[in-house]
Amino acid sequence: MTGSHAPTPQEVTEVDTLIAGAGIAGLGMGIRLKRDAAAGADRGSFLILERANDVGGTWRDNVYPGVACDIPSHLYSYSFRTKPDWTHVFPSGAELQEYLRECAREEGLLPHLRFGEPVTDARWDEDAARWLVTTPAGRYRSRVLVSAVGRLSEPRVPSIDGLDGFSGAVVHTAAWNAGLGLGGARVGLVGTGASAVQLLPELARRAGHVTVFQRSAPYVVPRGDRAYDESELALLADPAERDLLREQIFWDAEAAFPQRLQVPEAIGALRGRAASHLRAQVADPMLRARLTPDYEIGCKRVLLSDDYYPAIQSPNVTLETSALVGIDGSTAIAASGARHELDVLVFATGFHATRPPFAELVTGRGGIRLAEHWSNGMRAYASTVVHRFPNLFVLDGPNASLGHNSAVYMIETQLEYVLGALEYLDESDAPLDIPLAAEDDYVAALDAAARDTVWLSGCTSWYVDDRSHRLTLLWPGYAHAFRERNGTFDAAAFGVRPVFSRGRG
Ligand code: NAP
Repeated sequence: MTGSHAPTPQEVTEVDTLIAGAGIAGLGMGIRLKRDAAAGADRGSFLILERANDVGGTWRDNVYPGVACDIPSHLYSYSFRTKPDWTHVFPSGAELQEYLRECAREEGLLPHLRFGEPVTDARWDEDAARWLVTTPAGRYRSRVLVSAVGRLSEPRVPSIDGLDGFSGAVVHTAAWNAGLGLGGARVGLVGTGASAVQLLPELARRAGHVTVFQRSAPYVVPRGDRAYDESELALLADPAERDLLREQIFWDAEAAFPQRLQVPEAIGALRGRAASHLRAQVADPMLRARLTPDYEIGCKRVLLSDDYYPAIQSPNVTLETSALVGIDGSTAIAASGARHELDVLVFATGFHATRPPFAELVTGRGGIRLAEHWSNGMRAYASTVVHRFPNLFVLDGPNASLGHNSAVYMIETQLEYVLGALEYLDESDAPLDIPLAAEDDYVAALDAAARDTVWLSGCTSWYVDDRSHRLTLLWPGYAHAFRERNGTFDAAAFGVRPVFSRGRG
């Protein structure tokens, strides 16, 4: 995709709102700003800085074979730009990426996009009351900074003894190499999370042999994906029908939340679904035992797959039920002591989600770095604004993800909040800095709500900060409760007086 030209390094570009990241959150912010402006609201200028050369975020980066989303298409898309012709109940990565590219093009975002511009530094200038943002290609000064860098954007590779000396090819699922020779290759697949479960069936089809390194077994439930037939597509051409379907999918997903609260009947039913799926697909009781998790269901993400268990039983797949701990030339060494000869090593080992590297780059009032403020785990008021980081809005950040419903719904909720704040800033020059007490109270309430959820029932997951053991990624409640709590900007929390609202177009 082509965007507008970057300034020369010595120029400083003045802009009202700077958005870092052109994934679902950043594009969504851009679309809402653009539409507000078209409706007559003066939201000022905005630019979107994107480190890569295309939009799409996670759906641009994750192109491993089999990549797809496990939230249904008609919910995992913008409510303000629904799509009539999703081909399947669940969208493939490629279909999502095409949707996002189309959104950027058709909503007129291209002139606002600056590609190949990763933020390398962002600091609050107290005197100017502006953010000063640096990229390798330019410098920007903005009143508002929106972080839309995503939580699944920085691939994590575990530290493995001898990995540097591996004689074969190494790849992470989020940085797939399409030229990787898989035919006849001996492939090691490290991890059994959402990415691995989608990739394994494809690897089993293409590679000579696959060894799966399973440190902990996942819970898997049926996926039931299928193509929409012609009559459904005809019905879904009507926007009202799409909205209805969207509502239905949303409330069905909400109904699953009591499982995460460990309500016995609800979590028992979920356990039953996973157990009968395993029984139906794996006849061998010994193998079933090796594939049975040793933690409570829902503590890690519950995976949806109809072809993972069949793939595990392919004649060319070996299940190693321990972690990869070392590499010696072409030999992968498992914690069990087993040794596996490999040509290719695939890390499906997730992302730096709880400690986002972006936080190291952002400096707020008094020189404090965001990573420092988050040294005990990510935190924010309304899951969006951070004490001593005036006019900074973090999308899809602290306690803004979900384990049971659509991330897009959460992002759209935050967009509403940011738009409300921008409306406030239209009327007032004073920067918005949330008092520490407000942030503390909000975080304490979330910590209390998280206490009895399944996510803190004892497993290791990327939802939980590994130093503080706080649930910092997920909102510990219903998605609709997130919207009720955080969908409206509340000036009073900032200790400032509300301004007269002219409403949004
Ligand atoms: P992940 O859920 O963080 O899983 C990482 C996996 O790597 C875990 O199974 C982990 O084991 C394992 N691991 C780490 N080090 C290991 C080692 N040395 N040996 C063996 N295993 C090791 O990462 P992900 O699968 O990429 O998924 C991340 C998130 O992306 C998902 O939870 C989901 O939100 C999103 N995603 C979504 C979809 C979708 O369909 N919507 C698809 C892909 C990804 P432990 O469990 O023991 O830690």
